[in-house]
Amino acid sequence: MFNENWKDETICIQGGYTPKSGEARILPIVQSTTYKYEDPDQVANLFDLKEEGFFYSRIGNPTVAGFEQKLTELEGGVGAVATASGQSAITLAVLNICTKGDHIVASSNLYGGTFTLLSSTLNKLGIDVTLVSPDASREEILNKCTDKTKLIYGETMANPSLNILDFDKFSSVAKEIGVPFIVDNTLMTSKLCKPLKHGANIVVYSATKYIDGHATSVGGAIVDGGNFDWNNGKFKSLSEPDPTYHGTNFSESFKNAAYIVKLRVTLLRDFGACLSPFNAFLFNLGLETLHLRMERHSDNALKLAKFLKDHPKVSWVNYPLLENNKNYDNAKKYLKYGASGILTFGIKGNDDAAKVFTKNLSLAALVVHIGDARTSVIHPASTTHRQLSEEQLISSGVPKDLVRVSVGIENADDIIKDFDQALNNIK
Ligand SMILES: *Cc1c(COP(=O)(O)O)cnc(C)c1O
Repeated sequence: MFNENWKDETICIQGGYTPKSGEARILPIVQSTTYKYEDPDQVANLFDLKEEGFFYSRIGNPTVAGFEQKLTELEGGVGAVATASGQSAITLAVLNICTKGDHIVASSNLYGGTFTLLSSTLNKLGIDVTLVSPDASREEILNKCTDKTKLIYGETMANPSLNILDFDKFSSVAKEIGVPFIVDNTLMTSKLCKPLKHGANIVVYSATKYIDGHATSVGGAIVDGGNFDWNNGKFKSLSEPDPTYHGTNFSESFKNAAYIVKLRVTLLRDFGACLSPFNAFLFNLGLETLHLRMERHSDNALKLAKFLKDHPKVSWVNYPLLENNKNYDNAKKYLKYGASGILTFGIKGNDDAAKVFTKNLSLAALVVHIGDARTSVIHPASTTHRQLSEEQLISSGVPKDLVRVSVGIENADDIIKDFDQALNNIK
């Protein structure tokens, strides 16, 4: 039933799953590890990748497939694999094309978990990473690439710097050296930004944040744009026979879906970081309102940012769509509706002012999580980043007075009133 001309709003509701006559109207939860067959030859074909079908839920499940298909349609890709978490999505996205001795160039403004994954855990497996400032010139980025470089990596919006990725700059380097550009689009989602339209080849997600939208489940996904030529000599695992599948050559057999098919049948098979059917069901429900929620998150965040900018207790506000913001031009260029729900600001006063502020809030809650319907705040210097020295805080872009807000979809005036009283009551 999927129609290529459908707009996002329609895909959010109708995409991914098309019941046949008499079948469940809603994507059903298929809570089954395994699937029954009558013909042993058919099962043999499934194992040889000659036929498509479900046989074991680590590698594929109908509920998970419905969620994957809707994401693929929203993103404009050729296929997706859902995973147990955002972290496992990023791990598999990298390991699908990188091995010992390979090299990655990534923008230095990264989610904390991605930073430790690339610079510590994958580094111990022999994969090198070079981090470049998001403000580096095209030439500087190009100069960091070597003949071992296998991918360029960035995040649409980084947290907590809120840097908006310069897609043209990073993707043109990837194109020049013949490697894919992988983009983490977690904080924007496909409602606000479509990385594949701006030169990305693979999009990764933590579905835990806005895709879920209600803080119920941990999960992730990888979406393949199908727009990269794996036959340029650099990616032999995709362009040469795989002995674990009787010599299947993924590029030959699966054409522009080679990357995502290989990821599923080798890495999901071997690492087993699969998504549960129940969590896929919840993520699919989340996607049904994604278009509405992302608009409201963006509207509320801009309203709160404008209010905070003029508040006497506030020293600075960072939100990409404030007009004098460093990221304003890239936000206007690459974001479609708004800039999502995350903003940061600084509070005047002594070291305790930010802590007291978070205590004073009543509607907004102190929560480590971001990207759900409820407004939440955190003061990184006294919580998530408390191990860092004052100098380290500054070099990680987290000054002592910084408060991070994940603006929810409550009434904007109620959110603003709560922030106003909490600021005015800092004694
Ligand atoms: C949360 C997050 C992740 C990690 O996702 P989990 O689902 O927590 O494993 C990765 N990237 C970004 C941008 C995130 O915000």
